[in-house]
Amino acid sequence: MNNKLVDKFGRSYKYLRISVTDRCNFRCKYCMPQHNFKMLSHQDILSYEDIIFIVKTLTEVGIEKIRITGGEPLVRKNISYMFEQLGKIEKIKDLTLTTNGSLLKKYAKVIFDSGVRRINISLDSLKDDRYEYITGGFNLKHIIDSINYAKSIGFNPIKINVVAIKGFNDDEILDFCDFAAKNSFNVRFIEFMPLESSIEWKKENILTGKEIIDIISKQYEVKKIDKNKYSGPSEDYLLSNGAKIGIITPISNHFCNSCDKLRLTADGKLRPCLLSNYEVDLKPAIINSDKELLLKLINDSLNLKYEKHSVDCSENNSKNGKYGRNMFEIGG
Ligand code: SAM
Ligand code: SF4
Repeated sequence: MNNKLVDKFGRSYKYLRISVTDRCNFRCKYCMPQHNFKMLSHQDILSYEDIIFIVKTLTEVGIEKIRITGGEPLVRKNISYMFEQLGKIEKIKDLTLTTNGSLLKKYAKVIFDSGVRRINISLDSLKDDRYEYITGGFNLKHIIDSINYAKSIGFNPIKINVVAIKGFNDDEILDFCDFAAKNSFNVRFIEFMPLESSIEWKKENILTGKEIIDIISKQYEVKKIDKNKYSGPSEDYLLSNGAKIGIITPISNHFCNSCDKLRLTADGKLRPCLLSNYEVDLKPAIINSDKELLLKLINDSLNLKYEKHSVDCSENNSKNGKYGRNMFEIGG
């Protein structure tokens, strides 16, 4: 059996993001189209046993970090069970979650008890009306309370993911820096990516990592700090107000050469690149719990991966099915 997942460009893979559902209780405008989107049917969704089989097999060939995402992962029925089972797999060195935060009061404790310590929570505005607008009607105060509840349970670090969009929240960059300093959260600004959504993606909407740093530099000293093993694609900075922030630039300065990520969709497709529309269906191997076939399919998917994706700021990356799926179906 292979003992490492390495692609033809020499990149080795240690990180699996698992979308456990495409369902979501939010309707974020940069993530979901407003109309005409189809959800997966119940029978297409991997069972928890299927997911655990895939994870156990992948940890035997080098995967050691798992992130649970969605849709909104915490809306899936009996999600506590899955965290408990994954928490028992010794070869997983880092089990993490990305959530919109809305159900943390219900699940934070059991997730923490399963061994999760690091969580990412999406929060794109600190203004009530904007938060309500971008999420499709959700209440900012409830989310801030939930984030503080998660902090009180002991999650650390708590990373706040902010999709930076010109014309929406570009005037809140400094507010987020103050929010990070005041609460000891690590705020990470992510460039807006062009998957299907109900805000039309245009290059004019991208607030680039460089523009974000320029805004911050006018107010604070910005010192780049060394990446740590949890930085992922983020470039990290310490500000003179004490805030730790991260900048993630998939569009203006891609990080494909250091990509160590695979993505599993809720319907069992392995997607080796977020921004390229190819996937390998793992279901034929799952049906018979066939490990050898599973590893073959996983390697097939690595062979499909290009050296880098082709999305950038210079073209209008027209959608029209180019990415095959919406962000809520892949998990970010
Ligand atoms: N529901 C969870 C949440 O919102 O955190 C997890 C799934 S969500 C698809 C994962 C991440 O993708 C979130 O941080 C979200 O902000 C980000 N995301 C969604 N659409 C995006 C886009 N068009 N560009 C950049 N990031 C996006
Ligand atoms: Fe749901 Fe997360 Fe997408 Fe918002 S970003 S619609 S919370 S999946």
